[in-house]
Amino acid sequence: MNVPFVDLRAQYRTIKDEIDQAVAQVLDQTAFIGGTIVERFEAEFARYTGSEHCISCANGTDALEIALEALGIGPGDEVIVPAYTWISTASAVSRVGATPVFAEVHPEYYTIDPLAVEKKIGKHTRCILPVHFYGLPSDMPAIMEVAERHDLVVLEDCAQAHGARINGKLVGTFGEAATYSFYPGKNLGAYGDAGAIVSSNAQLVAKCRQLARLGQEGKHNHVAIGRNSRMDTLQAAVLRVKLAHLQSWTEKRRAHARSYSKLLNDSEIDLPKEPTGFHHVYHIFMVQLDNRDRVQELLSSHGVSTQLHYPRPLPRIKPYATSESFPVSDAMAARMLSLPMYAELTSEQVEYVASKLIDTL
Ligand SMILES: *Cc1c(COP(=O)(O)O)cnc(C)c1O
Repeated sequence: MNVPFVDLRAQYRTIKDEIDQAVAQVLDQTAFIGGTIVERFEAEFARYTGSEHCISCANGTDALEIALEALGIGPGDEVIVPAYTWISTASAVSRVGATPVFAEVHPEYYTIDPLAVEKKIGKHTRCILPVHFYGLPSDMPAIMEVAERHDLVVLEDCAQAHGARINGKLVGTFGEAATYSFYPGKNLGAYGDAGAIVSSNAQLVAKCRQLARLGQEGKHNHVAIGRNSRMDTLQAAVLRVKLAHLQSWTEKRRAHARSYSKLLNDSEIDLPKEPTGFHHVYHIFMVQLDNRDRVQELLSSHGVSTQLHYPRPLPRIKPYATSESFPVSDAMAARMLSLPMYAELTSEQVEYVASKLIDTL
């Protein structure tokens, strides 16, 4: 049996008619930038994420940079980010001229640890940037409490967590604003690059829109130096089709996660946890085990593709290298393995992955 890590073709097959029609409509209208399709997606995505406003942009990394700049974060400011995340979370901070300060992640949940955040707060700290990592919400009640006590703004990186929530409250609605990525492999993925910023702060969203649209306020009225970061209409058309399916796809991911957990429960593998009241959307199904590299090789020889998210914590990559100790992140980097996870997995595939994994132990 062959189990790819993700299978975008399998997903396309299930929605081919809808997608082909939506794409054909854009081609027929030959309106490739902006227009009502992009506006409709923004409105629908704002509604889906529980925010009042959404501004689309070119990718999730731009979304972070634009949101940070709109929040007024720049040179001299520090932003607390998790030590373990995708590089964009930190690079966006660096790109606006501020300094990312790494906080350790929680040993059981892998999201930024609110206690570690508090220890990193200094007189230059302006912002906390939690990531809802692998699809599990960060402990937002605790983070908001810390932020309020220290008068810090919170920006949520929701790139891996479309639809995740805590006691019914959606991620991205705790802080001042939130950013999303629609990279093809994300839970809601475009057919190319795309991203968005959501917020219920109208003024902030207007500022983001201005920054992402070359500083324009109305055609040819450039009131600031902005950048060009747009979601193209083809991507918006694809995303509108896919957004309507997202909830059912998320339920399937959650069902696969339950199956994996049941099948692997008695092994010595560390499984992802979902705290009470937290709704995990399993962008990644990450397990931890010893002899990871060998297990990955053996799985591969049995046709099972796995990946590492990510091989190195950020304080261990060249631009951010430090000798500071991050024991949880360092241990994770050595032991983590991401198993195949997408809605279209069959129960036979899930069982096959789990049984081959147990065989390697
Ligand atoms: C994917 C991702 C991003 C960046 O998104 P792009 O659309 O690839 O630029 C940012 N943060 C996290 C945590 C991500 O997983």
